[in-house]
Amino acid sequence: MQIQLVDVHTQYLKIKDEIDSGIQEVLDTTAFINGPRVKRFQKELEAYLGVKHVIPCANGTDALQIAMMGLGLKPGDEVIVPAFTYVATAEVIALLGLTPVMVDVDLDTFNVNTESVAAAITSRTRAIVPVHLYGQSADMEAIMNIASAHELYVIEDNAQAIGADYIYKNGERAKTGTIGHIGCTSFYPSKNLGCYGDGGAIMTQDDELGDVLHKIANHGQSVRYYHDLVGCNSRLDSIQAVVLSAKLPHLDEYCDARRKAADYYDAAFAEVPALITPYRAPYSTHVFHQYTLRVTDGQREALKSYLDEHRIPNMIYYPVPLYKQKAFAPYAGSTTYLPNTELLCKEVISLPMHTELDEKQLEYISRHVISFFRK
Ligand SMILES: *Cc1c(COP(=O)(O)O)cnc(C)c1O
Repeated sequence: MQIQLVDVHTQYLKIKDEIDSGIQEVLDTTAFINGPRVKRFQKELEAYLGVKHVIPCANGTDALQIAMMGLGLKPGDEVIVPAFTYVATAEVIALLGLTPVMVDVDLDTFNVNTESVAAAITSRTRAIVPVHLYGQSADMEAIMNIASAHELYVIEDNAQAIGADYIYKNGERAKTGTIGHIGCTSFYPSKNLGCYGDGGAIMTQDDELGDVLHKIANHGQSVRYYHDLVGCNSRLDSIQAVVLSAKLPHLDEYCDARRKAADYYDAAFAEVPALITPYRAPYSTHVFHQYTLRVTDGQREALKSYLDEHRIPNMIYYPVPLYKQKAFAPYAGSTTYLPNTELLCKEVISLPMHTELDEKQLEYISRHVISFFRK
């Protein structure tokens, strides 16, 4: 059986006509950059997320960088990040001469531990970057409370959780990426809302910040050739906007399809003592960017080899704590060992997860995972 970690092609075939005609329209009008299709997608995403400003940009890493530039963070300022994340989160912090302060995560949610965040705050701390890892929100209410008590900014790294709802204690909901001062996301093809190249966006409810972020992403200008700020060149192109406009109306159904696949896996692995299936926090819906298991009996590498042998795609997100990465060792400071991060790097494995998994494929994958533990 042919199984893919992510199947973007089968998904494309279902919306092919709309995408093909939209791309043809861009070719015919040659409005390749910042054309009307980009503006249209911006408005559609604002409406979907319930956020005042969406600033489309070139990729998710740029989104994070522009967010930090927009907040006026200066060299030496400290920014708190989870040590268990994709490198982009911390990379832009280092690139801007800021200091990433890496803290531990929770074993159940994989997301940043709020006590560790509070404990890491110093007089130089300016911002916190929670990452909604694998498609589930970090504990935003707690994080926003810590931030407001210490007058810190919160930048949500929402690259893996677009479409997820955060659920407040009073039952109200908000889309992830719209709760902090700024939210950032990526439209990399394999993300939950992915285009067919690079793409990203920045979100904010703040008018003034929205204006500054728009400018920074476009060479610091709002009127051409009049530059108010030092910015950068980070634009979404029209062809990517066409793809995103075609997919956005399906995002909720894509999230449902991912949850359904996750439900199947959960049920299949319930009786395997060595496996811990993903915890679902009461304060978030889960959009399963990844379906990530913990293999608790020290057999993760053996399971990985077994799955490789049987041609079942799998991936380790992420094998090395940030503070142990060569590039980030100079920023690690006194952080040399965070127990939960270390354990997760040894235990996690992600299985195929996308919108097109059918029951046959899920049965095949699950059967092989289970047979490894029965052999
Ligand atoms: C994908 C990703 C990014 C970066 O997005 P790009 O579009 O690849 O630059 C940042 N943070 C997280 C958590 C991601 O998964």
